[in-house]
Amino acid sequence: MIDDFEYHSPKSLSEACKLLKKYNGKAQILAGGTDLIPMLYHGHHGRRAPKHMINIKNIPKLNEISFTETSGLTLGALVRFNDIILSKTIQNNYPILVEVSSRIGSHQIRNLATIGGNLCNAAPSADSAPILIALDSTVTLTGPGSKKRTLRVEEFFKGPGKSALKPGEILTRITVPPIKPNMGMAYAKHTTRKALEIAVVGVAGLVQLEPDTDKCIEARIVVGACAPTPLRVPAAEALLKGKILNEHNLDSASAAAAAATAPISDVRGSADYRYDMVKVHCKRVLELALQRAKVRTDLINDVGS
Ligand SMILES: Cc1cc2nc3c(=O)[nH]c(=O)nc-3n(C[C@H](O)[C@H](O)[C@H](O)COP(=O)(O)OP(=O)(O)OC[C@H]3O[C@@H](n4cnc5c(N)ncnc54)[C@H](O)[C@@H]3O)c2cc1C
Repeated sequence: MIDDFEYHSPKSLSEACKLLKKYNGKAQILAGGTDLIPMLYHGHHGRRAPKHMINIKNIPKLNEISFTETSGLTLGALVRFNDIILSKTIQNNYPILVEVSSRIGSHQIRNLATIGGNLCNAAPSADSAPILIALDSTVTLTGPGSKKRTLRVEEFFKGPGKSALKPGEILTRITVPPIKPNMGMAYAKHTTRKALEIAVVGVAGLVQLEPDTDKCIEARIVVGACAPTPLRVPAAEALLKGKILNEHNLDSASAAAAAATAPISDVRGSADYRYDMVKVHCKRVLELALQRAKVRTDLINDVGS
């Protein structure tokens, strides 16, 4: 049984923001509904079922994907994970986003689930978050009166089920900066089964190498599902920056990443198990990111010669 609610289907962003503000605290945005609809039946993190449901799928342009080499990739909030997987632009320029999207839910879920909904649901295990944070992505939030603000994805997560959205605000787009030459990245999702499973541990890693020397000039490590929010670990990144990456410093960074987490024990795994899995996957992700950064270097050198 679910409680009655009033359904709204605004045709513009300003109308949607007005409704959201008017029913403040009693309304929720409906995107793909894959988090929201189950929540109506089961409840979640103590959240109450909304009295007003505001479907944003009839608002034009929220499902657009655009890319330029200078400003990077822009994803409308309603872009679904299967749209990402099928986009030639994303396949060519951000293959990591195709990899990450392919690990979400099932084909049916990916046909409905939006990237905006994944972030706004603010689950610590949200699969899109670690890689978006590692890529230094931002979200644009639009509020009443078309007032816009931009936040780094890192700042958007405030706690389990809590985001930086203010009353009347809607997440409208996500911007992913261009990927620099000699950057490599990877994401590992540890699950107890192969599909339809949320992450026990998720780890995104990114390294950028100095051309010719192979010295690491940028490193980013982000752990999902092991703290109240996806967790970037600058202390672990610092152990890699300025160094030639080897077994020893990858081990140290992976240990530092695990040490920074605050995992809980639940049905998917104990805190100790999560801690160990962060260490294991962080090292694997960094090794793969390093390998990919080197391949890119080779490709670029080939083109130039
Ligand atoms: C069987 C199953 C498997 C799943 N597997 C995974 C998985 O592997 N990995 C994973 O990360 N998630 C998984 N999920 C969770 C879910 O599918 C994703 O989080 C999905 O991306 C949510 O997007 P949605 O469009 O369906 O959001 P909705 O359910 O429509 O909304 C989610 C929340 O965000 C709010 N919201 C949505 N869009 C906006 C917006 N633009 N602005 C402001 N607020 C907004 C809604 O009000 C709601 O509170 C799974 C869910 C199910 C049911």
